[in-house]
Amino acid sequence: MKDRMEVFLSMFREEMPEYICRLERKALAEEVPIIRRGTQDVLRYFLRTGKPAKVLEVGTAVGYSALFMRECLPESSRITTIEKVEMRLTEARKNFAAHDPDGRIRLLAGEAGEVLHGLAEAKDTFDFIFLDAAKGQYLSFLPDILAILAPEGILISDNILHEGDVLESRYAVTRRDRTIHGRMREYLQELTSHEQLETLCLPVGDGMTVSQKKKRA
Ligand code: SAH
Ligand code: MG
Repeated sequence: MKDRMEVFLSMFREEMPEYICRLERKALAEEVPIIRRGTQDVLRYFLRTGKPAKVLEVGTAVGYSALFMRECLPESSRITTIEKVEMRLTEARKNFAAHDPDGRIRLLAGEAGEVLHGLAEAKDTFDFIFLDAAKGQYLSFLPDILAILAPEGILISDNILHEGDVLESRYAVTRRDRTIHGRMREYLQELTSHEQLETLCLPVGDGMTVSQKKKRA
């Protein structure tokens, strides 16, 4: 039933430019873990309606989602995206050179935790943050994320169900995944109870949350 719903609804999905579809096929063929269709729908909705001027992405991979987001934003918006793996950075630079001619995307190379800390210290702020890297570290990123997220800004966190593992009992997952399992549950608990955030949890893609930072009272 879920598959039939998905197929039916996909008929109403906006077509993206050909190069986006090409990059998506290439990434999938090479097993680069890019955002899924349902996740793309949610991102597109919030970017088109909210028109954030400054967007931050954690986890560039080869730049697929950054380019996808660029297509959903006004020309005046800017995207900053963070990646640490050299092979991915090389591929992302190539894709941005080809598909971001006016330089709306800024790629920062480095460990996300350190880069986020640097942005917070520089008092940089963003209207929209897409968290899609280092699933075990979301909770430890949160203080810096909250520092750089503007009031009424949106934080979207991807892969919060970790292929469904997060639903399972702690004992049903392998030891390697148990740490992520526990940390992701803690992260969900924190997001949904945080006094500065209003959070929506969605069983879309690999599970995602949409949080809005409250206006200061
Ligand atoms: N957002 C991309 C997919 C990102 S996959 C898309 O949808 O197109 C997650 C990426 O995060 C991987 O490329 C991985 O190398 C990177 N990553 C993981 N941990 C990181 C960390 N601690 N700092 C920076 N990048 C990290
Ligand atoms: Mg993801």
